[in-house]
Amino acid sequence: MANTVSFLNARFDQMPPDEAVEVLLERLLNRQGGRVYYANAHTMVTAAKNKALVEALERKDLLLADGSGVRWSSTLLGTPLIYNLNGTDLVPALCKAGASENLSVYFLGAKPGVAEDAATNLAKVYPGLVIAGVQHGYFLKEDTPKILEAIREARPHLLLVAMGVPMQEIWIDQYSSQLPGITCMGVGGLFDFMAERVPRAPHHIREVGMEWLWRLMMEPSRLWKRYLIGNFVFLGLVIAYAFGKLLNKLTNKAPVSLESQQLDPIPEVVPVPGAGHQEAVGTKMRTTKGKDLLKKRSKLGWFRAVSPPVLKKKCG
Ligand code: UDP
Repeated sequence: MANTVSFLNARFDQMPPDEAVEVLLERLLNRQGGRVYYANAHTMVTAAKNKALVEALERKDLLLADGSGVRWSSTLLGTPLIYNLNGTDLVPALCKAGASENLSVYFLGAKPGVAEDAATNLAKVYPGLVIAGVQHGYFLKEDTPKILEAIREARPHLLLVAMGVPMQEIWIDQYSSQLPGITCMGVGGLFDFMAERVPRAPHHIREVGMEWLWRLMMEPSRLWKRYLIGNFVFLGLVIAYAFGKLLNKLTNKAPVSLESQQLDPIPEVVPVPGAGHQEAVGTKMRTTKGKDLLKKRSKLGWFRAVSPPVLKKKCG
């Protein structure tokens, strides 16, 4: 059964892999469109310093937990995300399930030639699957309208966007509304695996949650920072979040959600007789100094979301 789990202040949709394939296939064939993301430790670390990514993740239709880092740490925090729902496993399963319905897929991303090979290989394995189009991921921004037009014309059920985190999520967030009836999914390095440019970790390495180590060994110069430094930053985020939760509990305050941090309405200015320039914020009154603090708080964004209320009070 699907449910929602909050972890590091993002809201994940949790369900077993078989159900995820069913839910996704129904969305695609019913032409619901929308935005589907996978988030792993690297996504969460990137989100900690990238507001556009946080906002993209908030506006998701489905957010699925990818990788052992998220699974282990969410379990430690008492909000376990037990299923590893990565695109590298789910996309082929989805294509297999949809091939008999002539599911159509558009490949956008990776280096020139890679999306073509990925599409060809996938179509060979799943006859019936329709390759609606391919486009590499190193295009100029001014070519975006042309690319969107080509995708709209091809009208795939599924648009796979493989441009890496955070570019793919931000691209989907910005343009999916111009692609009605097409579900957009961010899939990172998937095309490189499918096109056999990069070998995927053997099954037993994936089983013990060490795929990241395999990837690091395959592309050390590109990925050392992400894994060797990023994993420590991720651990720091998890500890900060746990600490914030504990303090919230001790001070008996409800945890402050990412949504309430980012999506506070801009307070309406209400003149108050005899009180100078004040503003109404909910039922409380704030001075213009309060407005500055609000601005500051939204700039601090994501980290503020995990900080305990006592700090919030001090820092705004
Ligand atoms: N990529 C792209 N356009 C860019 C930068 C990257 O299409 O401007 C592609 C890159 O060729 C690779 C994918 O995005 O195929 C990113 O892969 P990565 O393994 O970093 O994905 P992640 O680990 O974020 O899922």
